[in-house]
Amino acid sequence: SAERRDRMKKIIVLGCTGSIGTSTLNIVRNMPEDFCVSGLSANTNEKKLAALAQEFGCPSTLTSKDGIDGIKRIIDETQPDVIVNGIAGAAGLLPSKIAAESGIKLALANKETVVMAWHLIKQTAEKHGCAIIPVDSEHSAIFNLIHQAGKENVSEIVITASGGPFRTLSSGELENVTVEQALAHPTWKMGKKITVDSATLANKGLEVIEAARLFEMPPEKIKVVVHPQSIIHSLVRTNDGMLYAQLSEPDMQHPIFSALTWPENKAGHLQPFDLFDKTLTFFHPRIKDFPMLEYAFEAARNGKSYSIAYNAANEIAVQAFLDKKIGFTAISRIVRTVLDKDWTLLPAGFDDVFAQDEKARKLAEAII
Ligand code: MN
Repeated sequence: SAERRDRMKKIIVLGCTGSIGTSTLNIVRNMPEDFCVSGLSANTNEKKLAALAQEFGCPSTLTSKDGIDGIKRIIDETQPDVIVNGIAGAAGLLPSKIAAESGIKLALANKETVVMAWHLIKQTAEKHGCAIIPVDSEHSAIFNLIHQAGKENVSEIVITASGGPFRTLSSGELENVTVEQALAHPTWKMGKKITVDSATLANKGLEVIEAARLFEMPPEKIKVVVHPQSIIHSLVRTNDGMLYAQLSEPDMQHPIFSALTWPENKAGHLQPFDLFDKTLTFFHPRIKDFPMLEYAFEAARNGKSYSIAYNAANEIAVQAFLDKKIGFTAISRIVRTVLDKDWTLLPAGFDDVFAQDEKARKLAEAII
């Protein structure tokens, strides 16, 4: 019926075989009357892409071989209601730019879009009337809490961190942790790079930078609290000192559903959160043993190209750790050395962003 077509939201899922893509498609699978898929992209896994396209009756598919023009073409052809960007790494930046230029609502899970080039993306989105809704669980929580409290009433953002698998290890023990140990995350199931980032707290560092940019909050008004259960996804403090929190099971379908349906507030297929028999605990982050968090605050304060350098150096160092070329604690030492170079250029365009990104990667590689 016409009413059903009105209600039905058409989605393009970029990065459909990754963790965000999989959770997004799980929502569609469970709510076939509310969502349909008009485009799917995957990096290289053509077999899985074809299987998903068949399952969801999706007319258009792309791999990274098709390039940025392919993304533009499927947006133009299928005119979705929302584009989900679940692409991992710096490769997600230009797809976000294309989405922003289309003026179609962007559900953004790609951290690099915000960390590397938020001022450029924001300008583009505003020019084309594109609403960007954060999908990262912490930023989704903050986005909704700020919306409810009113931006002018918020004095501080408190981002929760699981603390990762090495939360309780001594600094000596951290020297000898293995790749396999780093990949065993206690609460979230995610890709390898982000799982290592959770172990070093670089993921929280990137999220601090993200929050500073997305919510235009000075870094000194952003706090991080370790909360191992990952049930509170973040909090905001209002001017009167009160704290407001968002709680749910640690399942990415919650923040994705929130972004897909925003600004509606509708019921989904997921179980409502049950508070009974839960224990919530909170700790200070161990900044001395996990310096990536502190370096992120520094990069957020310094602005310019510092957060590009932080992100790029970390990506190279994490890959070297995964390849077993360097130890766990070398990741932060490499990032520190790269951050000590000159990153005072404010990128005037995306070419500058990629040039700074490349410069940081080369420096990190040379150190390794
Ligand atoms: Mn997160």
